[in-house]
Amino acid sequence: MSRKPFIAGNWKMHNTVAQSKELAQALKKALNKNNADIMIAPSFTSLYAVAEVLKGSNIILAAQDCHFEEKGAFTSQIAPSQVLDTGATYVIIGHSERRSLFGDTNEILNKKVKAALTRGLKVVYCVGETLIERETEKTYAVIQDQIEDGLKGFTAEDLKDLVIAYEPVWAIGTGKTATPEQAQEVHKEIRTLLAQKYSEDFASKVRILYGGSVKADNVDSIMAQPDVDGVLVGGQSLEAEKFIRIIDYN
Ligand code: PEP
Repeated sequence: MSRKPFIAGNWKMHNTVAQSKELAQALKKALNKNNADIMIAPSFTSLYAVAEVLKGSNIILAAQDCHFEEKGAFTSQIAPSQVLDTGATYVIIGHSERRSLFGDTNEILNKKVKAALTRGLKVVYCVGETLIERETEKTYAVIQDQIEDGLKGFTAEDLKDLVIAYEPVWAIGTGKTATPEQAQEVHKEIRTLLAQKYSEDFASKVRILYGGSVKADNVDSIMAQPDVDGVLVGGQSLEAEKFIRIIDYN
């Protein structure tokens, strides 16, 4: 089963509107020799402006989170329909920084995924274990809970546009990358779990990204793994040249 590669950049809490526009403009020039889906996730404040820049390109625009309610007294929060209104079509849900710093539990994330999908936003759903969980051999159990509880109540049809990102927490922003073999092992486990939970057909189609200190000198070997369909990149997506090298992996 050939799955279209998916290369995503999460800009986190970086960049002014002007800087975001400039970076988006530069990415439009990427060769994209792998014919990948390319996604960028700027801050909420830059989404609308970046959407304008991306007009006429295939680059996908994403928000980094959304709330599960559609409107109301939720100071500071952004509803799925407001994300869509900026021109974004995807949302990242369950990033480990949301889980660890902002209290997003699997139950809350399940509501967010539901709200996003109901409104027509596509979802990149992040999972991954901490260092202590890996060292105590809980990696698989943790990821299983994140998938079982975070994606509870959906059919394979509901999740047809879902993208999963496996991001070991110990590898995010730390310079420590999972080896390509470690990434492959977990990706394969995730695919097996999805086959059991939904169907072989669903599991063979869903794209699973790896995230955690991806850079120019490790992207090629990570992308060479059979169950790795793309990468979710933090730090190295903030510089056009570096991210373009990742997009044009060999
Ligand atoms: C991320 O935050 O999703 C991430 C993978 O960050 P970095 O590439 O900087 O490790």
